[in-house]
Amino acid sequence: MTFDEVKALDQEYVMQTYARNPVAIDHGKGATLYDTEGKKYIDFTSGIGVCALGYANEAWAKAIYDQAMKVGHISNLYYTEPYAKLASKLVPASGMSAVFFGNSGAEANEGMIKLARKYSFEKYGEGRAAIITLRNSFHGRTITTLKATGQDHFHEFFFPFTEGFRYAEANNMESLNGLSGDDVCAVMMELIQGEGGVNPLEQEYVQAVAKLCAEKDWLLLIDEVQTGIGRTGSLFAYQQFGIQPDVVTFAKGIAGGLPFGGFLANDKCKNVLRAGDHGSTFGGNPMAAAAGNVVMDTLTDDFLAQVKEKGQYLRDGIAALNSPYVSGIRGMGLMIGVGVQGMEHKELKNRLMDKGLLALTAGKDTLRLLPPLVISKDEIDEGLAVMAEVMKA
Ligand SMILES: *Cc1c(COP(=O)(O)O)cnc(C)c1O
Repeated sequence: MTFDEVKALDQEYVMQTYARNPVAIDHGKGATLYDTEGKKYIDFTSGIGVCALGYANEAWAKAIYDQAMKVGHISNLYYTEPYAKLASKLVPASGMSAVFFGNSGAEANEGMIKLARKYSFEKYGEGRAAIITLRNSFHGRTITTLKATGQDHFHEFFFPFTEGFRYAEANNMESLNGLSGDDVCAVMMELIQGEGGVNPLEQEYVQAVAKLCAEKDWLLLIDEVQTGIGRTGSLFAYQQFGIQPDVVTFAKGIAGGLPFGGFLANDKCKNVLRAGDHGSTFGGNPMAAAAGNVVMDTLTDDFLAQVKEKGQYLRDGIAALNSPYVSGIRGMGLMIGVGVQGMEHKELKNRLMDKGLLALTAGKDTLRLLPPLVISKDEIDEGLAVMAEVMKA
């Protein structure tokens, strides 16, 4: 089908909930994509941080195919090997004690919130269910995770929202202390706010929050849906912040493109959710888990070191453009935010796309780059060449 045919079907039959780019992606290899008209793009998006292994990864595709030919799905009422294996890789590598598997980021965060509230209820009784989150955060699109998201424009239309969320200024302990109270059970945050604009939290602040949580027996809930699974150059970003969460969520990158997510809990929290408390029909699907095993096997120390190196290389390359449109460069590993000035960030994204580079936007003025973790130096150079052409003075 041509782009126009695809678009016509979409516009006639699909709820128009996305501001889609005028491109229909057809296929790809590594970090290079092609649209239905045969135009080539370097991909700095990974489908919003999902396709960690890029496109048409043979080991990944073979694992999914092989599992599909054995058993593609069976419910959580039975054990399966890919599921148990994936858990046995994630738990020790994260320093946590047990994992729950679901399907998406929002669902993972919902489960983490349920765990925090049940932990507090069982230990302290009713009236201690409030969760402090951060302004400018993003935690998902369900009724509860919208309310957990600290941005007012997500709190419209869908009333009544889940109660019990309060929003602190990021990197400001006074703000957090001001929201403290006997009704609080947890603090929940991203370590680099992704959708909010690729804003890394300060290490000192994160450690101070962790200390306060330990003192008050508030659970430290870390949303690593975007930052996790190698994106920042370590399995989880918290491993570079010198903290250990009580519960951490992951999703986007874990299965390299299949829907998958979940949360890991430490020893204190691993038995809070018991039979009947939480579940998922699709969670831990064997094909997705098989894909997840390939992703986890790929994330060796050497591979993660390369993610850091490639991230630094890309950041240095952007800085070297000396572009008048760049106000600053932020991020860790291959999660990079470029502050945009003198042009709308969406306009810049569109111009890059025209010239063959796919990028994302975030916040009000940020170009967000989340390339596949397997991107090659050559592909980075090709992407930088497009940026140089579009962003020169
Ligand atoms: C993407 C994202 C989510 C939501 O994930 P979905 O899979 O879209 O539900 C939640 N938290 C963070 C930090 C995210 O980046």
